[in-house]
Amino acid sequence: MIKTTGNEKEGQPAKRRFNLSITSLITIALLVYVTYRLITGFGPAPKTIPYSEFKNDLNAGQISSVVISDTSINGSMRDGTAFTTVPVLDPGLTKTLEAQKVQITGQLPSNGGILGFLLTWILPLALMVGLWYFFFGRNRGGGNPMGNIFSFGKSKARIITGEQTGVTFKDVGGAGEAITDLKEVTEFLKNPLHFQRLGGKMPKGVLLVGPPGTGKTLLARAAAGEAGVQFFNLSGAEFVEMFVGVGASRVRDLFNQAKKSAPSIIFIDEIDAIGGRRAGVGAMGAHEEREQTLNQLLAEMDGFETSRGVIVMAATNRPEILDPALLRPGRFDRQIMVDLPDRQGRLEIIEIHARQVIRAENVNLEAIAQITPGFSGADLATLVNEAALLASRNGKDVVEMSDFDAAFERVVAGSEHRTRSITTDEKRVIAVHEAGHALIASLMPNADKVRKVTIVPRGRAMGYTMQLPTNDRYVLGERELAARLTVLVGGRVAEDLEFGEVSTGAVDDLAHATDLARKMVTEFGMSPILGPVRLASDMQANYLSQQLGLDARVSQETATLVDTETRRIIEEAVDEARGHLENHRAVLDQLADMLCEHETVDGAQIDALLEKIEFQEPIAV
Ligand code: ADP
Ligand code: ZN
Ligand code: MG
Repeated sequence: MIKTTGNEKEGQPAKRRFNLSITSLITIALLVYVTYRLITGFGPAPKTIPYSEFKNDLNAGQISSVVISDTSINGSMRDGTAFTTVPVLDPGLTKTLEAQKVQITGQLPSNGGILGFLLTWILPLALMVGLWYFFFGRNRGGGNPMGNIFSFGKSKARIITGEQTGVTFKDVGGAGEAITDLKEVTEFLKNPLHFQRLGGKMPKGVLLVGPPGTGKTLLARAAAGEAGVQFFNLSGAEFVEMFVGVGASRVRDLFNQAKKSAPSIIFIDEIDAIGGRRAGVGAMGAHEEREQTLNQLLAEMDGFETSRGVIVMAATNRPEILDPALLRPGRFDRQIMVDLPDRQGRLEIIEIHARQVIRAENVNLEAIAQITPGFSGADLATLVNEAALLASRNGKDVVEMSDFDAAFERVVAGSEHRTRSITTDEKRVIAVHEAGHALIASLMPNADKVRKVTIVPRGRAMGYTMQLPTNDRYVLGERELAARLTVLVGGRVAEDLEFGEVSTGAVDDLAHATDLARKMVTEFGMSPILGPVRLASDMQANYLSQQLGLDARVSQETATLVDTETRRIIEEAVDEARGHLENHRAVLDQLADMLCEHETVDGAQIDALLEKIEFQEPIAV
């Protein structure tokens, strides 16, 4: 594997959405206003004045009427303005009022009885409780009687029937392997009974993993379209709302709806927004909400049978941050990689998007595929669209090659994740390096077979060689380990042979090789000099020990021997790799050429190449 030294992050931060809708805001505002008005009475609010001022006005003969109660004196002036004042103990008041010919009305302490009491006490209280409940009280899940107020927490899943997604696998380019894997799912959904007849069980959860823009969402939609089933789509961020507890109830609703209309596909896009590792005890606030949502999701997935014809799909571009609980059997136990497309894949994608575009004769889609390594499906879709827009802006009837070229430049300039657009020289280095790994793996009988080798970048890796079996082996012989080492150093050796120097791309290989060789010496007892003793520390880093990673009882001399033996094992692997590559130099060169041209080469092609060339060449001794 060859890696970039840069440390870039894929994906965008999960957005929190504030979906407090306008309608509910208006409703709240209205309620508050109406309550206020009910308490204070409609019409213009009376002016509150001091008792002394009231008395002055009274003596000046400006008061026309008053309503006197225990707690207030309300009234109006002769000019019509209303006022209110708080009475003080004033025995002479009534006399003065009579003298001024003011109309006097008495008022019982609680006029309006129950109604007044309701308005002034119960209503505001109810409103406050309601608001509090509305904002904070909806956590802890569970059926709650007020659950339907404003239908908050109702799933926002848009019910789309499979036919309505209108997308099938024909609309997805360069994702052959992923589609093959997904076909199992669509076949099952088309005919669940047929599959169960033989006692087969479908996976419950399928996780699509890959960099942004590679068509994960598109693939999920296509799967639903292909199977002709209902597609329930909600993105992870949509679960995590402003209010605690909403996420969990969304999950419940989503599953209920999907089960009702089975067979169906539930799709949780960007699941990392809710599916990140749980923080454990003491998590607060936003984490708490996210964890509740995640727990609910796990519970729902455990609680239903696929026999009902519901399959849960999810997508992420950050699988490494997912909570391990999500990946356990019975949950998202099936993972499908969706990688950046190679040249052939890019051509397919460009062709799909160029279907509706009226093109000039001179447009060569192959050439566009050629110059766009590192582009995702989304980038290519943008490129084609951009070209069409440019052409129509310039008043053309057809889209010409020059438009595609201009569009290409725009897309390259506009997207930051193509800053590492690979030069031809770099591409050659990567190709030689990967060819080195792959050729040695194909040549050594004890090495795992090569499945494919590619120089299409994935994450930080600029290229990689994928070997079979990909699942973990538990017991490995010494020869298998040695073969593994040889494959690991093969990339670097190939670079050295071809260019007389090595690049920084081999750092990871060296790290892995050193690690493995050291383990062979200190853990597996595979060094004849040191013999079958365990020298490694049981702790990852034992600070008591002078030699990190070694047992505290290991002497200085032994520690030095460990280093020497580790180096010897690696050097032997390097020599072996060099021997193989020198003997098959022509194959190495041709494989590198093939990689430069097609970007991906599979194991069978390497075997064919070996066979073809080795027959023509005298075998070096
Ligand atoms: P992701 O979910 O992996 O980030 P999307 O599925 O949202 O990517 O892709 C965005 C758009 O890019 C799609 O709607 C489609 O137009 C285009 N696209 C991406 N990958 C492909 C592909 N493999 N084939 C065709 N179009 C693609
Ligand atoms: Zn490598
Ligand atoms: Mg997506």
